[in-house]
Amino acid sequence: NLSDKLQNIFKNLRGKGRLSEADVKTALKEVKMALLEADVNFKVVKNFVNTVQERAVGQDVLNSLTPGQMVIKIVNEEMIRLLGEQTVELQLKPSNEITVLMMCGLQGAGKTTTVAKLAGKLKSKGRKPLLVACDIYRPAAIEQLQINGDKQGVSVFSMGDKHKPLNIAKAAMEHAVKNGYNVVMLDTAGRLHIDEAMMEELQEIKANINVHQTILVVDAMTGQDAVNVSELFNEKLSIDGVILTKLDGDTRGGAALSIRAVTGRPILYVGMGEKLSDLEQFYPDRMASRILGMGDILTLIDKAQAEFDETKAKELEKKIKKAEFDFNDFLEQMQQMKKMGGISSLLGMLPGAGKLKDIEIDENALATTEAIIYSMTKAERSNPDILNPSRKKRIAAGAGVDISEVNALVKQLEQSRKMMKQFSGMMGKGGKHGGKF
Ligand code: GDP
Ligand code: MG
Repeated sequence: NLSDKLQNIFKNLRGKGRLSEADVKTALKEVKMALLEADVNFKVVKNFVNTVQERAVGQDVLNSLTPGQMVIKIVNEEMIRLLGEQTVELQLKPSNEITVLMMCGLQGAGKTTTVAKLAGKLKSKGRKPLLVACDIYRPAAIEQLQINGDKQGVSVFSMGDKHKPLNIAKAAMEHAVKNGYNVVMLDTAGRLHIDEAMMEELQEIKANINVHQTILVVDAMTGQDAVNVSELFNEKLSIDGVILTKLDGDTRGGAALSIRAVTGRPILYVGMGEKLSDLEQFYPDRMASRILGMGDILTLIDKAQAEFDETKAKELEKKIKKAEFDFNDFLEQMQQMKKMGGISSLLGMLPGAGKLKDIEIDENALATTEAIIYSMTKAERSNPDILNPSRKKRIAAGAGVDISEVNALVKQLEQSRKMMKQFSGMMGKGGKHGGKF
């Protein structure tokens, strides 16, 4: 599926150190194929890939320390943008007025189920919803709504199947006024395909009832069709928002990515199952990472990028080449790591890190190291060679550790420096890529 494909593409990207423009283009061609196969609208894919490419082949991306990660970050950001960026709430009037919500969509999209799910949500927010059975065509539609309403503890208004939906809606309004309901939710009929009669019926309701929000219910499993349906409903009825159902199934994800871009209307909720509790608020960022299938690695990249100062990193690179790494650098490295949440929290964010739980990282040891360095004077930190026994003894006392621990740390730094010397010797003639670590 889409997530697996994207994950593979990104694994290759991350595996490479340096990226060329060609690498990025190849990867994005693969992303494009994956999106098209997942039924994302062609125009949407084209725009998306172009935008990502423009951003990703920029010099600061290709020259960054982690270009692969930068590209993934850009894909994620653009995906969130495509999905609408912010969570959009369902608009309701104040509680002392009646909000009318009209649900519409094709037959089987999930209107009757979803309207009951939504009624439950509104009820728990202190609203007093009334479900209205306006589907007079589908056998047992009224009974289905009644059963769902009962389960939710929400009243259902119905007049059988002998009245026009508009008249049922009008009567429901009166009933709501008399009985103090403040959200009237119209469960309308759908057809297997969009037809004139269906649209006219809905338009007639909208023309005569003060419908506050027209909500389109679409089945995510229908892929491109879902997008076409949304476009048409929006043209005819000017919808206010979309609820995307059946996202719990093995959907290809294309509908979610296209609908907002094609209709300009927000996805408000997503249906995640047949149970009446399976309705979730829509979060563009969560949806994007779900589609990217990368769990929290995106959070990790974000964090790393936010905390990792590239200028400092370059300075450090220079120092390493000259083997001038001192205790200040040591300390800075440790603080960098801490800012990112410590080693164990970093590990926890890696996909599959559950397996790593057994590895214990001694963060106390890090704290000790830090204490020792803090007990050094400025001169000692930047010039470890002056550390004679009496200085070491003073430092140990200051940090509250045994002198052997100070010795060990000094030795560690010396070894690092030695290694760096060998390293930079090896890469002395090496190109500009030398010194990456
Ligand atoms: P309507 O014709 O638009 O009113 O659609 P229904 O509400 O009758 O739903 C059609 C079918 O889809 C029913 O079997 C529902 O249980 C099912 N359904 C609705 N929403 C979801 C969902 O989010 N996930 C799953 N798996 N099934 C759903
Ligand atoms: Mg129905």
